Amino acid sequence: MKVKVNQDACIGCGACFAIAEDLFEMDENGLSKEKVEVVPEELKEAAQEAVESCPTSAIVAE
Ligand code: SF4
Repeated sequence: MKVKVNQDACIGCGACFAIAEDLFEMDENGLSKEKVEVVPEELKEAAQEAVESCPTSAIVAE
């Protein structure tokens, strides 16, 4: 599983950092960026939760 933030859609709400701080962080523009490309097995549930919680559907998982 991979995650990628579409920064054109991100509004910097912080939900994904709150849910999965090991997967997402705020960049210098106040937008989310992924900390890892490939999600470790133990963080898959958190990644899925972040995807579902993003208000703008900015996180793409594949
Ligand atoms: S939850 Fe979505 S909109 Fe909010 S900071 Fe994360 S990627 Fe951006």
